[in-house]
Parts: sequence; structure tokens; C-alpha cells
Amino acid sequence: MYDLIVVGAGPAGLSAALTAYENGLKKILVVERDKEMGGILNQCIHNGFGLHLFKKELTGPEFAGRFIEKIKETDIEIMLDTMVLDMDKNKNVYILNTNGYKKLSAKAIILAMGCRERTRGAIATPGDRGAGVYTAGAAQRYMNMNGYSVGNKVVILGSGDIGLIMARRMTLEGAKVLACIEINPYSAGLRRNIKQCLEDFDIPLYLSHTITDIKCTNNRVSKVIISKVDEAYNIIEGSEIEIKCDTVLLSIGLIPENELSKEADITIDERTKGPVVYENMETSVEGIFCCGNVVQVHDLADNVAMEAKKAAKAACKYILEEKTFVREIKVEANKPITYTIPQKIHLPIEEKVVDISFRTNKVLDKCVIKVTNSNGEVVCKYPREYVIPAELEKINVPVSLIKDEQNSITIYIEED
Ligand SMILES: Cc1cc2nc3c(=O)[nH]c(=O)nc-3n(C[C@H](O)[C@H](O)[C@H](O)COP(=O)(O)OP(=O)(O)OC[C@H]3O[C@@H](n4cnc5c(N)ncnc54)[C@H](O)[C@@H]3O)c2cc1C
Repeated sequence: MYDLIVVGAGPAGLSAALTAYENGLKKILVVERDKEMGGILNQCIHNGFGLHLFKKELTGPEFAGRFIEKIKETDIEIMLDTMVLDMDKNKNVYILNTNGYKKLSAKAIILAMGCRERTRGAIATPGDRGAGVYTAGAAQRYMNMNGYSVGNKVVILGSGDIGLIMARRMTLEGAKVLACIEINPYSAGLRRNIKQCLEDFDIPLYLSHTITDIKCTNNRVSKVIISKVDEAYNIIEGSEIEIKCDTVLLSIGLIPENELSKEADITIDERTKGPVVYENMETSVEGIFCCGNVVQVHDLADNVAMEAKKAAKAACKYILEEKTFVREIKVEANKPITYTIPQKIHLPIEEKVVDISFRTNKVLDKCVIKVTNSNGEVVCKYPREYVIPAELEKINVPVSLIKDEQNSITIYIEED
């Protein structure tokens, strides 16, 4: 029996395993389906990682390397090339590798399986089905890890960070990126990526547009038709523009990998597609914790690693200490906030503040984030210069202000 099994060796899993080790757990196993540790960071060869955690601008592999080197100095067991196929709420994990199929058990589990990309099928883009349509992450893997070029004249659908970073990457490799097409009236990527990956290379960003047709010649993409959409995302007839290209990259969203969580009867939040969590990253199943992109799509690996520390500390507490929680309150949110992490808070807790993160589906300038108690009284306020959908927003709510709540607290935003 292991003390702790961590599923996934991306930044979340690695940071969680190290923190658990530093906090006194002895028998820790990390299971990773890939042949190496590092997760998605291995294909992110651009810099921009580690600014918060290490006060240095690192590439993805360098950032992951910092954890991998430390892990190698411990006796944390790492099983690579091993897939966790199934899991149950009694904390049994079923793995498959070249040695066969095996059941393993642990006192606690941390889920750190990351996300997968949405594909063309998810948004039902019409048109021919030829070669040359890739998800941005797949194209990134081909270019950065396998050394293949994926195309010469490129259109990117979606302005998520992966798509933006690939726009710059392909330009630097000599391809011509003709346009980035975004269905929303705002970009889904970080402001710094819009500047550094599109504007610096004069790549046009078409907001409120989508691809309405993909045409192929000789089984390869030869052009796309883009059209403008109205506020309700209806296509505006007559707004079509034709762009001749040979490659389409899709950067249309990420979906947390939660098939295992569902197998263990963990409650999933339909808004995030990740587990419902408490403030310590515990799921609805006692002793199973989660962190990183499997919970919510993070912008920064630094935040992933910090969230993983929280999950690991809570897992250690769960194993090594008596449970003290007696009740819980819900965290509710009003529009344009789309969800919050955590969705619930255990009480009483030793921590002085609860970190709450969320996203909005609207751009707001000069606004105030407010937290109210069950009686509708404002208990804390957080002024902001702006709030944008692309950036994960965070607030720290003092526990002293919510400890007497019986049912819930509500978060909302008011424009100034
Ligand atoms: C293109 C791109 C650019 C980015 N740029 C930046 C940036 O500039 N700066 C920054 O800070 N952040 C950036 N990020 C974000 C950051 O990389 C991610 O937020 C972070 O990698 C998520 O970490 P994770 O550990 O949750 O998931 P992942 O890194 O995806 O790791 C999950 C791991 O779990 C494994 N796994 C999944 N299921 C199983 C299973 N059943 N059995 C065994 N193993 C399993 C996977 O193989 C994977 O290794 C970028 C992300 C992408 C995709």
C-alpha cells in the first residue's frame, strides 16, 4: 500500500509529489503514461515559465527540469510509460504497462492528468476532410519534439494561448501565418501573447469571425472561408472572406481529462468539466485530491505548481492527522463569472485566507469584485483595473470574514 499515488507527471504531479515528500510522506508513487516526466511543458520550448515561482524566465522543459532534478534526489517512485486505466473511490488504481495490468492501492490519491485539446469535431466546422488540419498542441508537438514542419501558409482558428504561441513559432520557422480567427469579440489569449505572437509579426486578428468552410485540393487544405458573426454568434451572410492556405491550426479550447475522476464517482462541475473541489483541493471523495489543468485550465505553470503544493499538503494532513472539519459552505458566483475554484469551503480551517480563482466571459474595465454573505452583505471588495476572460482572476478571502457563514458566500463583479 502506498501513502500517496499521483496520476500524471506534468508540473502539477511533480510539484505535488515533491511537496508530499517534503511534508513527511514516505511511500509515494507517480504514474505517467508518457515516456518522460514533464507533461505538456516538454513541447513548450518558448520562454515565459517560472517568473512567479523561480523569478526567472524559463522555457517549459527548463521549468519542468527544476522539478525533475529534485525528484531524482528523493526516493519517490516514478512509473513511466504506464497508463492509469481505472480508479475507484476506495483509492485503488488500475495500471497498464509492458509488465501487464496491476491493481495498486494508496491512502490518498492526487489527480494531475492535465487537459486535452478540443478538435474540429467538437465545433463541427464544415468542409472537406483533407490533410493539413491540426490542433495547435499537436502541431507544436510535431514541430518542437519530432522536428516536422506542418505547413507553409497557415490560418489559426481560435486565439487561445497555444494558437498564439504557434503563430509565432511557425513564423520563426519560415511559414506565413495569414490570420488568426476568433469567434468571440475578445481574444482568448493572454495580452502578452497577443502582443508578442501576433502584433509583433503583423498577423491580423479577426475578432467575431469564424471559419465557415474548409476547401481541399488533392486531399490537402487549399483555402478557408471565414465569416463574421453577430452578438448571438449567428453567421452574417455576405461577410465571407476567402483565404488561400495549406494549413489550419485549431486553438479552440482545452477539456480537463476526467474519465478517471468519473470512474471514482467524483462529482464533476459541468462548468469547468473538472472535479468540484474544496479549498484544500480535495474532491467530493475523501482522500482524493486534484490539481493543475485537470481542475481548471490554468494560464501559468507557476500557478499549477502552487495549486499542487496546496493539494499535497492537504493529502499529507489527511493521512497524518485527525480530521477536524465539521461543516462546509458553498461558493456561488453571479454572471459574468463563469465558475469558481473552489466550489466549496470546509470550516473550521487553520488557514487565514482562502484563495478563490475564477474566469469571466466578459471584458470589464475598472471594476470591483465583491464577496457577499448569505444575508447579501458585502464582506470584502477587490478593485481591478480590468478583468478579462483570458486571465484567471484570483482573490484571497480572509477566513475571519466568512467563518460564521451558514450556507454560502457569493462573488460578483460591479463596474465602477
Ligand atoms: C502551448 C502551451 C503554451 C503554454 N505556455 C505557457 C507559458 O508561456 N507560461 C506558463 O506559465 N504556462 C504556459 N502553459 C501552461 C502550462 O504549460 C500548463 O498549465 C501546465 O503544463 C499544466 O500542467 P498539468 O500538470 O496540470 O498538466 P500536463 O502538463 O498536461 O500534465 C499532465 C500529465 O498527466 C499525464 N496523464 C494524463 N492521464 C494519465 C493517465 N490516465 N495515466 C497516466 N498519466 C496520465 C499526461 O501524460 C501528462 O504528462 C502553456 C501550455 C500550453 C499547452
